[in-house]
Amino acid sequence: MHTKTKYWTPADGDAGLNEAAAALAAGGVVAFPTETVYGLGADARSEAAAERIFAAKGRPSDNPLIVHLADAADVDALAAEVSPLERALMAAFWPGPLTLVLPVRPGAVAARVTAGLDTVAVRVPAHDIARRLIAAAGCPVAAPSANRSGRPSPTLASHVRDDLDGRIDGVLDGGPTGVGVESTVVRVLGGDVHILRPGGVTAEQLQAAAGEAARIVAPSAGGETAAGDGEAAASGSADAPGAASAMDAVGADAAPAAGAAGAPRSPGVKYAHYAPQGVMAIASGAPAAVRAAVQAAVDDARRRGEPAGVLCCDEHAGFYSADAVLALGPRAAPAAAAQALYAALRECDARGLRFIAAEAFPEEGIGAALMNRMRKAAGGRALPV
Ligand code: AMP
Ligand code: MG
Repeated sequence: MHTKTKYWTPADGDAGLNEAAAALAAGGVVAFPTETVYGLGADARSEAAAERIFAAKGRPSDNPLIVHLADAADVDALAAEVSPLERALMAAFWPGPLTLVLPVRPGAVAARVTAGLDTVAVRVPAHDIARRLIAAAGCPVAAPSANRSGRPSPTLASHVRDDLDGRIDGVLDGGPTGVGVESTVVRVLGGDVHILRPGGVTAEQLQAAAGEAARIVAPSAGGETAAGDGEAAASGSADAPGAASAMDAVGADAAPAAGAAGAPRSPGVKYAHYAPQGVMAIASGAPAAVRAAVQAAVDDARRRGEPAGVLCCDEHAGFYSADAVLALGPRAAPAAAAQALYAALRECDARGLRFIAAEAFPEEGIGAALMNRMRKAAGGRALPV
């Protein structure tokens, strides 16, 4: 496939945005910024347009896409039914990084978008360019992250260019994305809010918005390793020990896909993700012990002749001796690290690292989503501390 990819910069202003919207309305595929990561958009009503997303990314066809709307009021055109609790979550978090999986109104979106499920995942992004683009296109916009499958999600337009130049119609550059990890995906069932994928909205925020009567069901540690926006082809790979057997039973035709405990699951669960080219392992525990374990693992790797790097908090950056030391942010500010993580993983590949030792961050708030993505990148591997 080769398409000439157009690049619109902020200097192109409304003219650029309108050209991008026209490309979407004409069945094209266009990358655009959201508050989470860059998305790769196409008209969600068109089978052919949706197919172009899967082809450009190399995404497995049984992994459904999130549909993005300009306005929360448009949800009723896509969903057959929206419960009061779902409406309360929309009111609390839209526009914002919360995706709700809802029963789909038959025929409202292309079957390709839902991967044939009877549910559709929907959100309203909190990004001015994204919302103006979708409104101008005049259609619901299906948009997964704008990376090649198996690569980290893009947080800059240059990441999109690196992965998809020549494969898509255009990229609307809106600068760096804010949250840096994808949306939280939830399914509300019987008054419980099941988190299918942790993300930009935290479990604590969901609890506060849903009220005390609602149960927030977080993914189990085992499921969490594999749950999410799976795209890499390595189904049930050795990188996700323990996850494969439970996941294999989860088919795209199960609706809602149910895990072993009967909890709803996202079809993406059976795929591994975001793995950097080097082997990554995570150290958690007391800071001094973590530092010693990380440095020892790096030293071992270098003795084997492997370029080795470190992902760490700002406070520890000066401590390490390695081929690359990438500080993600202050230890007590997981939001900064979430924003920085994907660019750092791309940097690991750019520097040819064969081994990456990463420090764990505290799991409070968005730290849960940060650590979910870090564990995926590490294929669940832990460093002995
Ligand atoms: P991405 O767009 O790449 O960030 O990934 C979208 C995530 O939403 C994946 O984990 C999908 O499996 C999940 N998803 C999309 N549609 C549905 C659906 N109808 N039911 C359950 N999960 C969904
Ligand atoms: Mg993705």
